[in-house]
Amino acid sequence: MHQKLPVEIEPLKLAKQGQILEGKLSVATLKRLNPYLAENVGEVKVRLDFGFDASHKPYAKGQFGTQLMVTCERCLKAMPFDIKINNTLGIAKHEHQVDDMPSSYEPWLIGEESVVFLADMVEDELILALPLVAKHDSACLPAKAWQTEVLEQVEEDAAPTSSPFDILASLKSK
Ligand SMILES: [Zn+2]
Repeated sequence: MHQKLPVEIEPLKLAKQGQILEGKLSVATLKRLNPYLAENVGEVKVRLDFGFDASHKPYAKGQFGTQLMVTCERCLKAMPFDIKINNTLGIAKHEHQVDDMPSSYEPWLIGEESVVFLADMVEDELILALPLVAKHDSACLPAKAWQTEVLEQVEEDAAPTSSPFDILASLKSK
């Protein structure tokens, strides 16, 4: 069992060997995930159990756990969001292999290259698990303050600016 996660892995080889990968990835190193986050802090716990199922299909049972800092859409402050994923990734080199997979499998298309970046797959899992709109469970802003803020914004937008005619008039009067 590996305690330190390798950067690159060969999923099919690991399946043949019945390997288990277990370790942590730093959130800060997940560059595609970073733009979705309020703060790039924390770690992702990863465990992958590789093997072949009864119908000889390669898979990896995945466990991913982390706490990401996302932005609350209401108060715009950073808030923690817990992610726990347990799934079975069906390892496929070609699209047509995906069709043959049990429906409970999540396809993991590795393509022609036998070596893939482990972080790429973990990143995909986390991006899919992020909330579309994150909000604190509690009312993080008093409802009244929130409404006033919106109204003021609308009024500001609607307020007439000086029209071109006003400017012309002021020029003519000089
Ligand atoms: Zn909030």
